[in-house]
Amino acid sequence: MTVFDCPRHIVICGGGTAGWMCAAALSRTIGRAGVSIALVESEEIGTVGVGEATIPTISTFNGMLGLDEDDFLRATEGTFKIGIVFANWGRAGENYLHPFGVAGFDYEAIRFHQFWLKLHQADREAWGEFEDYSLSAVAARAGRFMRPGGDPDSVLSSMKYAYHFDAGLYARYLRRYAEARGVVRIEGRIVDVAQHAHSGDITGVTLEGGRAINGDFFIDCTGFRALLIDETLKAGFEDWSHRLPNDRALAVPSESHGPLTPYTQATAESAGWRWRIPLQHRVGNGHVYCSNHMTDDQAARVLMAGLDGKALGDPRMLKFRAGRRKAFWKGNCVAIGLSAGFLEPLESTSIHLIQTGISKLLALFPAAQPSQADIDEYNRLTALEYEQARDFILLHYVATRRDDSPYWQERRRTNVPETLRQKMELFASRGRVFRRDDDLFTIDSWLAVMLGQGIEPRGYDPLIDALPVTEIEGLVRHVRDAVSRTAAALPRHEAFIAAIAGRKPAHERSLT
Ligand SMILES: Cc1cc2nc3c(=O)[nH]c(=O)nc-3n(C[C@H](O)[C@H](O)[C@H](O)COP(=O)(O)OP(=O)(O)OC[C@H]3O[C@@H](n4cnc5c(N)ncnc54)[C@H](O)[C@@H]3O)c2cc1C
Repeated sequence: MTVFDCPRHIVICGGGTAGWMCAAALSRTIGRAGVSIALVESEEIGTVGVGEATIPTISTFNGMLGLDEDDFLRATEGTFKIGIVFANWGRAGENYLHPFGVAGFDYEAIRFHQFWLKLHQADREAWGEFEDYSLSAVAARAGRFMRPGGDPDSVLSSMKYAYHFDAGLYARYLRRYAEARGVVRIEGRIVDVAQHAHSGDITGVTLEGGRAINGDFFIDCTGFRALLIDETLKAGFEDWSHRLPNDRALAVPSESHGPLTPYTQATAESAGWRWRIPLQHRVGNGHVYCSNHMTDDQAARVLMAGLDGKALGDPRMLKFRAGRRKAFWKGNCVAIGLSAGFLEPLESTSIHLIQTGISKLLALFPAAQPSQADIDEYNRLTALEYEQARDFILLHYVATRRDDSPYWQERRRTNVPETLRQKMELFASRGRVFRRDDDLFTIDSWLAVMLGQGIEPRGYDPLIDALPVTEIEGLVRHVRDAVSRTAAALPRHEAFIAAIAGRKPAHERSLT
């Protein structure tokens, strides 16, 4: 008989989105090998309770679990998200859309945006904005949505989507899934962590009241507390607040109001930005700000003044610091979720980073004795992912023409990492963008944000000049027409959701 050479008792500490995502994924995979999985959480401590906007990779995770999408949307009051509208970022009064999916198609080995760029540089009026060529962007602005079909040649297939969901309901949904597959949930507050006298490995945690839970591999999902990876194992923190200084958020739900938009809204303010996330039963709102530039009272006023429906409670404050653990995996403990690091939710990257943490842990799953080479590779890849996400978020702050407050003046003077500087310079020259090291964000995402923030390339790909202008015009016009025709024929997002939910959207229900 084959001996299963891996940890036999896994303990997940923490039951927020990270903890239950880990529990669900492990129960689906290694749970089958007879490994015991326990999850410890404390109701009294609770979870961070935010984290409701995602990026398209989430459907890979849900798919790996075998979740039925309609069932998932009903259980989490979820909606579809095909992009993010950024208001007041490049300049106050302007807005742009970062859509998911691709715009146009490459032709003669030249990227589509280069054709548009050439025409746009000659006549801006006639050729419009780049988002006019993205089905996700045009559909998002029109409040329309449909799942992309299977035909790879159809315009519809260029659309990609993610979800908005209620974070608490998602964790509960995954809890039911994991418990049905053998995960044992243990209620209680961890008050002590025991370590092996020689190796320093964690051997168990003790709960208030004295109950000990032992294991041979631990996943730290205790959120900002980082109880195992940092308080116990002293993994350290690489602080990025000199580049991303926002350190607080106020969050408040509000009643649904108006049509169910298939996008997140991120509105820049004088010392930070506000989010608006539409769910079936309510809207999630928040104001992320920098406490050096704004008081909590001022931030609350900005948040409440921006609500478009009645508040469903008082704003709740969250404090954080941008950065990442110096080591995510140490000995027999790996940190996943907020215990691993924090990046403000401007591009909804945190849940994605939980997901990639889980995938890498599965790909490098340790033998009974973890190998240092596996640990090093996990740490290398995770650090890279955090840095790539940081660069993309930072782009929104440094590529701006705003200088209307000390906060924005400071953002423009930010010391830009070399990786991002090269990307911006390359684009500013001839509109070229390359994806490096499996960068999470696609070329279309970089394009949308660089153009939207107001970076104007000085030229375009010179190879294009080998093609007749009429041919280029025909190609670009064809894409714009096809996108606009397809978007107009899509159902309204709220009708699509109502059909899944089996009821009218909340704002319509309150009118009857
Ligand atoms: C303002 C804000 C907005 C965000 N928006 C988004 C977004 O739109 N999209 C996105 O992808 N991400 C977002 N995030 C990040 C997202 O919320 C988190 O990545 C996600 O919720 C995972 O959190 P977590 O499970 O790591 O931590 P938590 O939710 O804090 O869970 C920690 C768990 O550990 C338990 N615990 C802690 N200490 C103990 C102890 N001593 N004993 C026992 N149990 C303990 C708690 O009870 C809890 O169950 C946002 C974060 C913030 C702060």
